Amino acid sequence: MRISPDLHTHSTASDGTLTPTQLVRRAADAGVTVLALTDHDTLAGIDEARRAAAECALHLVAGVEISVTWHSQTVHILGLDVATEDPTLNAGLNNLRDFRRWRAEEIGRRLDKVGYAGAFEGAKALSNGRLIGRMHFARFLTARGAAENVRGVFKRFLVKGKPGHVSGQWAELADAVSWIGAAGGQAVIAHPARYGLTRSKMLRLIGEFKEAGGTGIEVVSGSHSRDEYFVFARHAREQNLLASAGSDFHDPAYPWIELGRLPALPEGCTPIWHDWACVPHTEDPQNRAAA
Ligand code: AMP
Ligand code: MN
Ligand code: MN
Ligand code: MN
Repeated sequence: MRISPDLHTHSTASDGTLTPTQLVRRAADAGVTVLALTDHDTLAGIDEARRAAAECALHLVAGVEISVTWHSQTVHILGLDVATEDPTLNAGLNNLRDFRRWRAEEIGRRLDKVGYAGAFEGAKALSNGRLIGRMHFARFLTARGAAENVRGVFKRFLVKGKPGHVSGQWAELADAVSWIGAAGGQAVIAHPARYGLTRSKMLRLIGEFKEAGGTGIEVVSGSHSRDEYFVFARHAREQNLLASAGSDFHDPAYPWIELGRLPALPEGCTPIWHDWACVPHTEDPQNRAAA
């Protein structure tokens, strides 16, 4: 059987547009065999995703994408195969969600000042009472005609230096990694190419991450270019990190990031799933690379 992992996806529990059930079914239909649901700072979608996976030929990995502030920069750390009831992890995520609630109100106040009244209420309505992210503001402002699409809204309103930007005060890197460890999971640096770090700063991030107990790095990502797969495959090999692969799927309306289309890891990487019991160890080339 061909193994087709996707270890980074979002649902309506955070800023995705598909419910966990819809996401699992779409992934199974697209041929994904091992799927991690990794919503931002919450495990709220996992139970539903598990129930849906039980009815498909797909193994569900309980995951989370934790927001971290590292040297004034936001970095995302994935926790894979975590125990969802773990009190340490849940306490950490609870604090992040408290910060998110305050941040959402603050983003609303700032957008109000530049002529977009009701943005907080609008974003909240789009979040269906669940966690509010910048994506919900982006969808609301797109519908209000503030920009052509969500990317345009991010660029004009929600990134550093723009009127609706509020600096994150997320988890410490070492704390996020330790919560994941406490929950028996594996920590993975998400979409490393997205941070725009110099090589020396990237090595520093990797060093501190490993020091804290982190073991993996996303090599193949929906937000990486082909060249970046090779850059991070090399980091994985040289820094002895396990390589992960995830689409970062959020929304079927963005066809450039779809489920079931990830390429194999570059040669020489050890896949993070190489010793997972849920992955049949057959003649799959992605596993042979680990041997
Ligand atoms: P938050 O964690 O609420 O600050 O939002 C981060 C999320 O916003 C990311 O996971 C993406 O889904 C989305 N995002 C961030 N930057 C952009 C961008 N430039 N264009 C589109 N979506 C973005
Ligand atoms: Mn997101
Ligand atoms: Mn992310
Ligand atoms: Mn993500």
